[in-house]
Amino acid sequence: VRPVVITIDGPSGSGKGTVAGLLARKLGWNLLDSGALYRLLAFAARNHGVDLTNEEALKVLAAHLDVQFVTSTEQRSQQIILEGEDVTDAIRNEQVGAGASQVASLPAVRESLLLRQHAFLEPPGLVADGRDMGTVVFPDAPLKVFLTARPEERARRRYQQLKDSGVDANLSSLLGEISKRDERDSQRAVAPLKAAPDAIQLDSTELSIEQVVEHIMSEIAARD
Ligand code: C5P
Repeated sequence: VRPVVITIDGPSGSGKGTVAGLLARKLGWNLLDSGALYRLLAFAARNHGVDLTNEEALKVLAAHLDVQFVTSTEQRSQQIILEGEDVTDAIRNEQVGAGASQVASLPAVRESLLLRQHAFLEPPGLVADGRDMGTVVFPDAPLKVFLTARPEERARRRYQQLKDSGVDANLSSLLGEISKRDERDSQRAVAPLKAAPDAIQLDSTELSIEQVVEHIMSEIAARD
C-alpha cells in the first residue's frame, strides 16, 4: 500500500497540532509533530550545555537525539520521551519554543532532522504538522493545508493550552513572544514559514477545531 501524506503548516497557535492529532486518530494514520523535534533539540542542547548558535554541535546532537514518540492505542495524545525521560509537558513552554525557533534557522540542523521526519511516513498514511511540511519535507503530499488565525486569537489559544497543562503564562507577553517567533520563522533563509503554492488556506480564527477537522475531512473525501 502506498502511504499518503497530509501536511498541515502554519504559525504557532493556529490549531494545527490539535487538528493534526485529531485527523491522525480519525484516519488511523501516523502523526508527525515536527515542531516537537526542534523543541527537543533546543531542550537537549540546554541539558548538554550546547550553545544554541553552535551549528556543528547542534547538527551532531540532532543526528543522535534519543527520542521516542509513544502514541497510545486510542491515539489520544502523544507522549514524548527524551533520553528515557518523559518531556511531553516540559518542552511546551515559550522559552523552549523560542530556543526551537533559534535552532530551526540553522541549515545543518534542518538537514540533519530531514531523514528522521521522512521515517514517520508509513502505511497507511501520515499527518504531518509544522512550518515546512508541504514546502520542503513532503513536497509531493497530495493534500496540503495552510492553517492561520489572527495573532490575538493564537496567543489566547496558547495561553489556554499552557494554563490547562498547569504552566503559568501571561497573555500579553505571550502575544509578544509568539509574534517574535513567527517573524523569525517567516523571515529565515531556509524553509521559512509559508504556504505551498498548492496548499488550501484556512483561517481558523472564527472556526472551532471540529469545524477545521470537518473541512479537511471533506477535502480528503473530495479527492477519493
Ligand atoms: O510548532 P511548534 O510551535 O512546536 O514549533 C516550534 C518551533 O520549531 C517553531 O517556532 C519553528 O521555529 C520550528 N519549526 C520549524 N519547522 C517545522 C516545525 C517547527 O522550523 N516544520
